Amino acid sequence: MILILMFVFWCVCNARGFEKETYNIGGIFSDETQKLAFQIATYRANNKYPLSEFKLVPITFQISPFDTLQMYKVTCDLLQMGIVGLFGPSSTYSSPYIQSVCDAKEIPHIEMHVDFHIKRNDTLVNIHPHPQVLSRLYKDLIRTYDWKRAIVLYEDEDSLMSVGPLLEYHNQIGRKIILKQLETTDTGNYRSLLTEVKSLGETNFVLACSIDSLEDILKQLQQIGMMTETYSYIITNLDTQTVDLTPFQYAGTNITAIRMLNPELTEVMEIADNLQRLRKETSSNVPILLQAWRTKLETALIFDAVELFYDTLYNLTVGKKKVIAAVPVECAGDSTWNEGYSIINLMKSKIVDGLSGNVQFDVEGLRTNFMVDILELSLGGLMKIGEWNSTMRSFKFQRPQKPQKIKEHNVFNTTFTVLISINPPYQMLTETTAQLVGNDRYEGFGIDVIQELSKLLGFNYTFVEQEDGSYGVLNKTTGIWDGMMGEIIAGRADLAITDLTITSERESAVDFSEPFMNLGISILYRKPEPVPPSLFMFVSPFSFTVWLLLGVSYLIVSIAIFIMGRLSPSEWQNPYPCVEEPQYLINQFSFRNSFWFILGALMQQGSELAPISISTRTVSGFWWFFVLTMVSSYTANLAAFLTVTTLVTPFNDIDELAEQKEIKFGAKNKGATANYFRDSNLTKYKKIWSYMVHNPDLMLDDNEAGVKKVETENYAFLMESTTIEYVTERHCALAQVGGLLDDKGYGIAMKKFSPYRNEISTAILQLQEKGVLTERKIKWWKEKRGGGKCSAKKENSEATALDLQNVGGVFLVLFVGSILGVLGSLAEFSCYIYRRSKKEKISFKEEFQKEMRFIINFKQNVKEVNTLPNESSSDKNLLDVTKYNY
Ligand code: GLU
Repeated sequence: MILILMFVFWCVCNARGFEKETYNIGGIFSDETQKLAFQIATYRANNKYPLSEFKLVPITFQISPFDTLQMYKVTCDLLQMGIVGLFGPSSTYSSPYIQSVCDAKEIPHIEMHVDFHIKRNDTLVNIHPHPQVLSRLYKDLIRTYDWKRAIVLYEDEDSLMSVGPLLEYHNQIGRKIILKQLETTDTGNYRSLLTEVKSLGETNFVLACSIDSLEDILKQLQQIGMMTETYSYIITNLDTQTVDLTPFQYAGTNITAIRMLNPELTEVMEIADNLQRLRKETSSNVPILLQAWRTKLETALIFDAVELFYDTLYNLTVGKKKVIAAVPVECAGDSTWNEGYSIINLMKSKIVDGLSGNVQFDVEGLRTNFMVDILELSLGGLMKIGEWNSTMRSFKFQRPQKPQKIKEHNVFNTTFTVLISINPPYQMLTETTAQLVGNDRYEGFGIDVIQELSKLLGFNYTFVEQEDGSYGVLNKTTGIWDGMMGEIIAGRADLAITDLTITSERESAVDFSEPFMNLGISILYRKPEPVPPSLFMFVSPFSFTVWLLLGVSYLIVSIAIFIMGRLSPSEWQNPYPCVEEPQYLINQFSFRNSFWFILGALMQQGSELAPISISTRTVSGFWWFFVLTMVSSYTANLAAFLTVTTLVTPFNDIDELAEQKEIKFGAKNKGATANYFRDSNLTKYKKIWSYMVHNPDLMLDDNEAGVKKVETENYAFLMESTTIEYVTERHCALAQVGGLLDDKGYGIAMKKFSPYRNEISTAILQLQEKGVLTERKIKWWKEKRGGGKCSAKKENSEATALDLQNVGGVFLVLFVGSILGVLGSLAEFSCYIYRRSKKEKISFKEEFQKEMRFIINFKQNVKEVNTLPNESSSDKNLLDVTKYNY
């Protein structure tokens, strides 16, 4: 019995052990996204520690930020339910009311919004960096940029609190700082204030405004002409990256922004995805697309706050160190919650790694030791250029800051370290049996360019090889470049030359000289294959239209000859030349004979028929001319068709390549070509990029591997046209397919704001104008190292069917000839009718009708001589007329 009781007790204990303790946490928010973020954050925290013995249950409310009464009521309801912590609200206006309740009842209160109060209540933890701490960053930026004068534009009291401390700089070390409030004449219209500011002639500005007004203010600055390269702005809002700054990135304005949340972090992207999904599920109208870059800092801070809170509770309760029990607390009355302070105190001493970086608090409960990313607006959008540490107050820039004035340096007698990578024909190891040292070890187009530049500008140089051959890739998370780009940025090399494509992404990190070579993306593929000869090759010389017209011409000319034959009196001949006065005449151009005569001529075989009258001879002459020309053209073109091999290409351009499935394709991994597709906005190129991403084995490390793959497999390699040209000069089985997809150039890279850039660019232009670069290109492309191997073997040009454009003139001549023939026969016929009517003493009309009646009787090829109008030919029986019907 005792044993059974012990077993039951053990079971109960274990069953309780499996069931996790639950703690309610309250959340008061004024927008749905934050409410959902709070729920996801709790879910995420609960799943982060699978062995923990409790889970948090979120109880959320969405209340207007100005409805303090309702907020107070909800807070009391939450306290009565027994909560272990209260998160929110996200409004500066109503927050103090909630804070006083939590303080009185000793409930941990966690805020995520910006709070300007210096003194923080005991139960409050605000996870947003204090504006005063951030104001140190603005000061440090002004000092680093060495702004002697600046105007601080602030929107309201809140923003003044964050930028006010900048006034400390006024009159210090000769600096002048002016504060100006962005006053509006009517809602959202700052133009008159901005115009006034413009008239002051200042060019450096600190802009402190809410994220909702930022875009409008920037637009209005642009409208009044304050968005040019003369102006510089520091934007203090930590959510600046959530605004689309594309319209301002091309004007060259120096815009510096700051952020604490990196939208490229996988966790931030996942959260944005989850939020988007939940929003879709919970509300029918999803107003904005919650992309990672649109995620506001406050939303991310909800995640950090919940994680910090969970971590604190976990630390308190793990191993049952402390038993925390939530108890209902009444708003009215003196009751408090005893555990509140233990949670708050531990929370303030904890350090967690959140979405916004290191989450840590100082003795005053303000966030400390955090990093802020410094961003700069460039052609590629906002790019990270460095970071700032709030405790050390130190910057770590990835590239040197733009000096106020770039001093021009003379490169004469300077010695440059020139970084190269081995890649034929740009840079190669010199082919020799002798042991070489120094610069002599290298040769190639790029080497010649540097040599020529040094001759022009008088600088010395030492080539250094990039061991891994990498041109440089930007790590979007750390903002750091590797490869040749990294070496230039770090200052370990002065210049870098290879087939280094000038791209906007690279241009934002280094400076490029003017391009020394122009190119575009194209396709390298095997040469087209010959088509097997067709059985009906003989029809190929003429197009279908020409064959059709030839047939129609044959019919028309045959019929014309037949009619003209009947009309022309001289075609009616005496069948018995020895009978001087024949009674009947016959016509050789019967219907069948006419067709036979024309066909005989067409086949160049002739027939026994010979036209007699002028009209039939005219038409025959033109027909023979026509036949002569057509047959010669046919023979010549047929010869071309038989000797030339017709080639077939499975695709003619990138679109056709992307559409088909049989031929695989790729490009150089992480090269400018692949990045072109990655960054393109065109759907067809996006499709190609997604194909490349899903087939990493088709993305090759270098061009050489690409060429080998094209030669050995059914593979097309997307590469730059200049390199294709080089390859096809040496690999005769390969060819470029299609034209160029874009237009760009190779440049010499050097440090940002390099003082040598202008001189080097001018020298490159001079080399171009003198034809030195063209000459060097011919040398390395067509002459050296097996160049010109394939140019001797020029393919026969393709034969194409002759179209109407080619032989149309011959048809025209035939047509004119036929018309002349018809006119001639009509003239002959009229003369004949006239003579007959005179002889027979009847009118022209009567004679004409009589003759016509006979002529249109096509069966009759025998004609009576001296037929009188009233005589019938049928009475005559002197000749057997039937035998003349051919
Ligand atoms: N020129 C390219 C670059 O600078 C490499 C070759 C390519 O991507 O086709 O990255």
